[in-house]
Amino acid sequence: MEKPMTTETPDLTHLWMPFTANRRFKEAPRLLASAKGMYYTSTDGRQILDGCAGLWCVNAGHCREPIAQAIATQVSTLDYAPSFQMGHPLAFKAATAVAALMPTGMQRIFFTNSGSESVDTALKIALAYHRANGQPQRTRLIGRERGYHGVGFGGISVGGISPNRKAFSNSLLPNVDHLPHTHNLEHNAFSKGQPAWGAHLADELERIVALHDASTIAAVIVEPMAGSTGVLIPPEGYLQRLREITHKHGILLIFDEVITGFGRLGANTASDYFGVTPDILTMAKGISNAAVPAGAVAVNNTLYDTVINAGDNGIELFHGYTYSGHPLAMAAITAALELYQSEHIFDNARTLSPAFEAAAHGMNGLPNVIDVRNLGIVAGVELAPRKDAPGARAAEVFQRCYDAGVLLRYTGDTIAISPPLIISQEQIGTIFDVLGKAISETA
Ligand code: PMP
Repeated sequence: MEKPMTTETPDLTHLWMPFTANRRFKEAPRLLASAKGMYYTSTDGRQILDGCAGLWCVNAGHCREPIAQAIATQVSTLDYAPSFQMGHPLAFKAATAVAALMPTGMQRIFFTNSGSESVDTALKIALAYHRANGQPQRTRLIGRERGYHGVGFGGISVGGISPNRKAFSNSLLPNVDHLPHTHNLEHNAFSKGQPAWGAHLADELERIVALHDASTIAAVIVEPMAGSTGVLIPPEGYLQRLREITHKHGILLIFDEVITGFGRLGANTASDYFGVTPDILTMAKGISNAAVPAGAVAVNNTLYDTVINAGDNGIELFHGYTYSGHPLAMAAITAALELYQSEHIFDNARTLSPAFEAAAHGMNGLPNVIDVRNLGIVAGVELAPRKDAPGARAAEVFQRCYDAGVLLRYTGDTIAISPPLIISQEQIGTIFDVLGKAISETA
């Protein structure tokens, strides 16, 4: 029998919510009770169109039956198997399925439970590789201003979002540098797709190399398309340039594809989309359609061989999680990837992206809109910040959209739109109608 939906407000005292203004939230909570396809239902019984795929993760829409079934079967077949020194077939099967979607030559998969874990795993693998390759002095890591790489100490150290770093600034990893970010309204405002200006910003890596010497640098990590910092699309040629410079100096390139992996740009990965292959690629979110927390790191085959063949046939990498390759996550991943394929969800994203782009740029000209940027099925609409209250205007727009039945995200004064990839043209229209109205009313 189906459980009746509870609509009463629970005791809000005990939960400390992540990345949330807890006091303010608890005064006026927004609570979701259930979900199906493109919609949430709130505890007050309203249908809410999901304009951000949860947190950029529910790529095939909510509560998909094949994934639910796979998880249900798995939890009563093999609920857990030790991830160290023991294996279970489904973890190998899931790794094979993930590997099939990764760029050529990157078919070795390490499982994690989140994007943050994937990032810290990737950074450690980079250091382990250089050690195994006879260059243990290569330990310096290069991130980018405004980069978001989760919340582990590794992730916030290479990340470039100031509030996430400031509170912990005395405890960040040493030997980290940052490239400049690529956001530039003067040159690139209202670009459609990749902006034309800015490839030269990758040359800043040469400056960092000159400063420290390449022999001390392990890896560069960037989001090929930065999401959480407010949707920053890489300038044409920028990623190619980063790849050339990293190759030239023997520096590993890590793409953080926690958002861009699994169809967000209409391709398997951003790496595929841009035609630039990193050495290490981090994933999470869409890997399981978010039904079970899951993440992974794809590693270049040669890099894997170097680490695995170094040493004395003991443990090669002193790293891993109790829940690496958790059976429920493996069931969810396997079913999600099958579903993506059988429903041609990435193709749908590609086919719809021109309509999505047109609808997003319909926001151009509305009050306080200072930029619209987009790629695949993701867009950012940036608003002029209110004097002395940065972020407040976007927060108000977000709330108005939610009240009108569309869930979006805001970061700083940018509204991010990234719906499930099963969205219809009509639903794209609804999202931007509601957003446009909210922007006008907020003015
Ligand atoms: N990297 C990127 C690029 C992300 O967008 C995110 C999450 N938004 C993370 C890492 C962290 O993922 P998680 O919240 O699953 O730890």
